This record gives sequence, structure tokens and C-alpha cells, in this order.
Amino acid sequence: MHSNNILRSIRNDLPLHFVIKQLDKMAPYSKLIEGFLRFECPHCHQLRATVNPKNNLAHCFCCQNNINNIDLMMNIGYDFKQAVNILEKWLRQYNSK
Ligand SMILES: [Zn+2]
Repeated sequence: MHSNNILRSIRNDLPLHFVIKQLDKMAPYSKLIEGFLRFECPHCHQLRATVNPKNNLAHCFCCQNNINNIDLMMNIGYDFKQAVNILEKWLRQYNSK
């Protein structure tokens, strides 16, 4: 069972750019454009999903979807439980830096 604290933490405290880096070849195509990390939106497949560092959410300026860490993992093919387990591990790695 995952507490709400953990879920909140992996959504907010683990930067999306770190998750994309960890995903390496599995990550959606991404590019730094004008200082913002953009990646290929899992919904409309345009390079318009833009990470907002203030709320750690990606917003797609094409289809208007918002994508958080858990959404990103599930769009790649992990189920919710797997996604949370992996993100929890990466959060520990990130925090130990
Ligand atoms: Zn989109």
C-alpha cells in the first residue's frame, strides 16, 4: 500500500526531467527549447508537452493535457503499482544526491 504522502512526493518532489533522464531510451523524445524541457506528448504525439518547473507538471500546448510523473510512466506501459515503485526508487536516488 502506498501512502498519500509518497504519492504526493513522487508527483511533486521528483523532477520530470530527472524521470525522463532515468527512462533513457524508453523516454519520449525530448528537447530543451528556450530553457524549457519539451517532450513528445503521449496523447497527441506533438513535441508540445512542456515541463513547468513550478508545479512539476507537463502541459501540452497542442491537446491541453497535463502529464505528471505517474502519467508519464503509465503512458510508457507500466501499470500504476509498477510506476509508483519505480518512481519511489528514483526519488530516493534523487534525494541522496
Ligand atoms: Zn498533446
